Amino acid sequence: MIELNETHAAALRSWVESANEPGTDFPIQNLPFAVFRRAGSGEAFRGGVAIGDQIVDLGLAAQCGALAPDARPLAAACGDASLNRFMAMGQGAWSALRLALSRALRMGAADAERLAACLVAQSDAEYTVPARIGDYTDFYTSVHHATNIGKLFRPDNPLMPNYKWVPIGYHGRSSSIGVSGQSFARPRGQTMPPGATAPEFGPCKRLDYELELGIFVGAGNASGEPVSIDDAESHVFGLCLLNDWSARDIQAWEYQPLGPFLSKNFATTISPWIVTLEALAPYRRPLVRPQGDPEPLPYLASEANREQGAIDIQLEVRLETEAMRRARAGSARLSATSYRHAYWTIAQLVAHHTVNGCNLQPGDLFGSGTLSGPTLDQAGALIELTAGGKKPVELPGGELRAFLEDGDTLILRGWCERPGHARIGFGECRGTVLPARGHS
Ligand code: MN
Repeated sequence: MIELNETHAAALRSWVESANEPGTDFPIQNLPFAVFRRAGSGEAFRGGVAIGDQIVDLGLAAQCGALAPDARPLAAACGDASLNRFMAMGQGAWSALRLALSRALRMGAADAERLAACLVAQSDAEYTVPARIGDYTDFYTSVHHATNIGKLFRPDNPLMPNYKWVPIGYHGRSSSIGVSGQSFARPRGQTMPPGATAPEFGPCKRLDYELELGIFVGAGNASGEPVSIDDAESHVFGLCLLNDWSARDIQAWEYQPLGPFLSKNFATTISPWIVTLEALAPYRRPLVRPQGDPEPLPYLASEANREQGAIDIQLEVRLETEAMRRARAGSARLSATSYRHAYWTIAQLVAHHTVNGCNLQPGDLFGSGTLSGPTLDQAGALIELTAGGKKPVELPGGELRAFLEDGDTLILRGWCERPGHARIGFGECRGTVLPARGHS
């Protein structure tokens, strides 16, 4: 676990004024990473760190003289078109660059003017997926989601007997992962309508989102060498927001016996900013297991994991329909929850994923699985909020939604707050559903 250090001090202020505004996602205590360029510029994409409403262009910052000498090669590595090389450098490097940026961005820093010349306004920027994602694994870490979904698919047997012993996951697809702002055509596929004897082919009728966090692997492990739970977090670079779009009608027909396939692999949207585990250190929480639940097997258990394995990240899902956009009505909140309710921790996911000798590589991505809280209004997907589509959600303008319609924009937000500490945020993860091919 990462200890609190001078970069977390709540009293720190930046010479970038917008970083000191109370509601900002990006105060000097956060310093998340993205890959960006000036929108429409044709410039090369390169790594940056958010501060207030600005981005520090790290490749430029490496050369400007404002960073401590030991941090300059680290910032230079972030000048690449993806963060993989920096991610591979490991926790010591991530921490050293964070410290150097924190000191150089503080009120009163000696070389503020030189670093100010390396800032790009976020309002001028566009982003791309921040790493070359070799492999993407989607987990299932919310016991509340697993139970709610289980009731819909298997009323007699909602929670499978393996759930409290094995962190459940499946290998997903990385080619269709896009960054916030992504839009995609409603998928088409096979579905089996209730009572029918043969499947239909056509546009998905039960399109859903899944509120998840993305977990980026930093340093990998050699094939055949498991990562112990005590070492697991040092392999994790940081977290982003993730929407695992899901075609529920396609899923219901295809998922047995091998799990989801075309119902999941057409699009996954992530937020551009990766908040490091170091930035999240003040918001750690004990891992709480209900009384009577089994103790995890030894390779999934440690004292540190019990005491601080969870993270209190506030999460929110918002929807903006085409009609709301036309009326300039803003977006409406569908639900809110916290990551602290997850049943399996990040360290447990890394230890489990590698226990058989599987090698993780820098830039690999895990999805947390849909993060539903303990009550139904905290559910992270429409299939739960609407009881499988039977109880549509009513939006402020009177529109009803059982599942997503064409033109709908889904917005995920996340932030951390704790008395005595700065508020830090994840920015947003936004994606829009377009009509199916041949159906516009
Ligand atoms: Mn998922």
